Amino acid sequence: MSNLRSGHYKLVGWEAKPDKTTVRVGSVEIGNGDLTIIAGPCAVESREQMMTIAASVKNMGVKIFRGGAYKPRTSPYSFQGLGEKGLELLAEVRERFGLFIVTEALSEESVDLVETYADVIQIGARNMQNFGLLRRVGRTHKPVLLKRGMAATLDEFLLAAEYILLEGNTNVILCERGIRTFADHARFTLDLAAVPALRQLTHLPIIIDPSHATGSVEKVIPLARAGVAAGAEGLIVEVHHQPDQARCDGPQALTPDMLLRMIREVRQIFAIVSYGEAEVLDSKAPATAANLY
Ligand code: PEP
Ligand code: MN
Repeated sequence: MSNLRSGHYKLVGWEAKPDKTTVRVGSVEIGNGDLTIIAGPCAVESREQMMTIAASVKNMGVKIFRGGAYKPRTSPYSFQGLGEKGLELLAEVRERFGLFIVTEALSEESVDLVETYADVIQIGARNMQNFGLLRRVGRTHKPVLLKRGMAATLDEFLLAAEYILLEGNTNVILCERGIRTFADHARFTLDLAAVPALRQLTHLPIIIDPSHATGSVEKVIPLARAGVAAGAEGLIVEVHHQPDQARCDGPQALTPDMLLRMIREVRQIFAIVSYGEAEVLDSKAPATAANLY
C-alpha cells in the first residue's frame, strides 16, 4: 500500500484502535463475525410497496431495511423521493416488522429530521466529501453508513470517515459501491480489491453494495457472492416486488425470490471465508492487521 500513508489516519486506522469496530444497530452487531444483510427498495414509494417488501425481507431473516426518502438523482426532473412522508412510512415499517431502518440524509439541514427516524444514517456516494454533512453526522448518536464516492481513492474515503469520527461518532460502516472506470458493461466497477485493502488500513466494518455497483439485476448476485468472498462483512441490496414499476433503479432491483437465493448463497460463502479466518487466528500467529484478514 505504498500510495497510502497510514500515519494520517488518527482515528480510523489500526494505530488508533487495535481491535475491529463493531457497529451496533439494535440487536445487530455489524462487523462482529456475522454477515449483515441490508435490503429494501431504492426509494420509498408507497405504503403498499413498503409493507409488501418489508414483509418479504423480514421472512428471510433480514433485520435491517433500506429505503430512500430523499433521493440524490442525476436529473432534477426524476423522482426525488417522498421526503418526510417517506420517513413516516419507514417508521411504520420499523413499528410493524421490527426492522431497523437505513435511510439517506442528503444535506446538513435534513439530518435533524432524518436522525429522528433512522437507525442508521446513510451518506451517499455523491456526498462523501460534503465535509459539513460529515461533521454534522459525526455529532449524531446514530450509526453512519458512509458510501465511497464514485471517484474517490481509499485515502479520500478513509479521511471522509475520519471527519465523522473526529466529531465523536465512532459508529461508521464503510460501503464500497462501485467506482467510475472506462468499463461500460456495468453502471460502475465494483472495486473488490478495496475490501482487503481497506481491512489492512482500518478497524471499521466494510460492506458492499452490488446493486449500485452493477446497475442491472443479472449482475447483482454474482458480485454479491464475490464481495463476500473478498471479505465484506455485509451487503446492502435493492429489492422490489415489482421492479418494472419501480420509480427509481428498477433495472437493478432483485425480486424477493432472487434475494432469498442470494442470501442462501452468500451465507455459504461467508461460512467458508470465516472458517479460513478462524484457522489463521488459531495458528497463534502474531495478531497483526494483515492476518486478521
Ligand atoms: C442509494 O443507496 O440509495 C444510493 C443513491 O447509492 P449511492 O450513493 O451509492 O449512489
Ligand atoms: Mn438506488
